[in-house]
Amino acid sequence: MILIDGKLLASEIKEKLKVEVSELKQKNIHPKLAVILVGDDFASKKYVNNKKIACEYVGIEQELIELGSDIIEEELIKVIEKLNNDESVHGILVQLPLPKHIDSYKIISIINPNKDVDGFHPENVGKLSIGCEGLISCTPNGIMRLLEKYNIDVWGKNCVVIGKSNIVGKPITMLLLKENATVTVCHIETRDISSITRQADVIIVAAGKLGLITSDMIKPGVVIIDVGINRNEDNEICGDVDFDGCKNKASYLTPVPGGVGPMTIAMLMENCVKVAKNISLYHE
Ligand code: NAD
Repeated sequence: MILIDGKLLASEIKEKLKVEVSELKQKNIHPKLAVILVGDDFASKKYVNNKKIACEYVGIEQELIELGSDIIEEELIKVIEKLNNDESVHGILVQLPLPKHIDSYKIISIINPNKDVDGFHPENVGKLSIGCEGLISCTPNGIMRLLEKYNIDVWGKNCVVIGKSNIVGKPITMLLLKENATVTVCHIETRDISSITRQADVIIVAAGKLGLITSDMIKPGVVIIDVGINRNEDNEICGDVDFDGCKNKASYLTPVPGGVGPMTIAMLMENCVKVAKNISLYHE
């Protein structure tokens, strides 16, 4: 089994971006990401901090806007509109989940799609579905880059996606279809998942369920991309795959941590630089 090293590829990408950012700065373009954090959810704060560390490394300026969990929708919309109109801001990211009284879809739809570095705006989601250039959501984009790096061609292959969220399952399905894979999407209501996974050449699992994929569910030589983030009984971070059980049967496998996670952040950085570069072309 070959271990797919997301940490390594993510650091290669960040090194390249570092150079591109310094070239942009020479043209007086200073890439900047605005991050809106509503409330004080522990996991969200940790994710935001990881993004801040990556921004600092690459040279992207980060503005963190922290808002109370009792903020009303109208106020949040005003904050986003201000950032939409601020020419010094290239990327806008609203850390999800938002408090229950706020309509996340409405909030994401307010972001200028050209600054939507998470790729969640309906315009970018639509572009992805029809195979047009737009800002692609970071986790699925990172998965495709990992497959590319390891020369794993999905053309005509049986790819099984487990999970149908807007953040991972649906967009990765679109990207796989774009590459002419045959895609089956499974979710919590799917019956007899193992009969489907046993046919898979590639499995992408994003369910958030510890130990969901076991060795009896896979065929020898399968490629497995594990997106899940869970805690085991020892409080260690683990994916959705029974790693030890599957490692001798799979041909390629992503570790958790160190697989998809670092790629998500690298793709966010890449999207910020992409927006800043487009602006630089506009000024030339
Ligand atoms: P979600 O909760 O929005 O969606 C989970 C999906 O999995 C649903 O479609 C559900 O039907 C399906 N599912 C759940 N349990 C299942 C089961 N037992 N069998 C089959 N299908 C099942 O979650 P999400 O936002 O897509 O995230 C999924 C996982 O990926 C989570 O663990 C999350 O933390 C992780 N994640 C990781 C990254 C990363 O960068 N590594 C990014 C996003 C999400």
